[in-house]
Amino acid sequence: MNVEQAYKDANALLEGHFLLASGNHSNRYLQSAKVLENPKKASLLTDALASMINNAGIEVDTVCAPALGGVLAGYELARSLNVRSIFVEKKESGMELRRGFEVAKGEKIIICEDIITTGGSALKAAQAIEALGGKVVAFASLANRGFCQRVGGNDTAKSECALPGNVPLFALDDFTFEMFTPDACPMCKEGGTAIKPGSKG
Ligand code: ZN
Repeated sequence: MNVEQAYKDANALLEGHFLLASGNHSNRYLQSAKVLENPKKASLLTDALASMINNAGIEVDTVCAPALGGVLAGYELARSLNVRSIFVEKKESGMELRRGFEVAKGEKIIICEDIITTGGSALKAAQAIEALGGKVVAFASLANRGFCQRVGGNDTAKSECALPGNVPLFALDDFTFEMFTPDACPMCKEGGTAIKPGSKG
């Protein structure tokens, strides 16, 4: 599956001058909500992701997504894997299960995001699940921004990656974009202003 083309076709791979959640700037941005707005295409993407997970022999009971960004991808991945779908939500520090969702002791859970940048939200979701006795067996995302190492990918994990090295990350592709601190951003030097397109891309 050509994931970059799927993003381009959905106008989800933006070019411009963007402010990322980390405070850094970039000239490209992945707007995963756009690639997921067509449910049929979304299910093709998560079917491919589910195949990678199944081929690796990962046993899973449930997919858990960090809200809001991961919910659509997590729900579709759960459908592709034919397992339960839950999500965690932000609290003051970290994340928590609400809405009557429960996790059984030893339940095997995949944490699913739309995009893994440094994996900070995914890590918080994993910590919430493990605090309840669940077992995080893998992380999954449609796209990997190249800070963390995915199964089958070429990039090695950078120091910014927050995910634990002993749990596999499955992603459809690596999107390794240049990123600049505001001080060092060439687009700011030319007088531009970075815009925030509404997710963490
Ligand atoms: Zn800039």
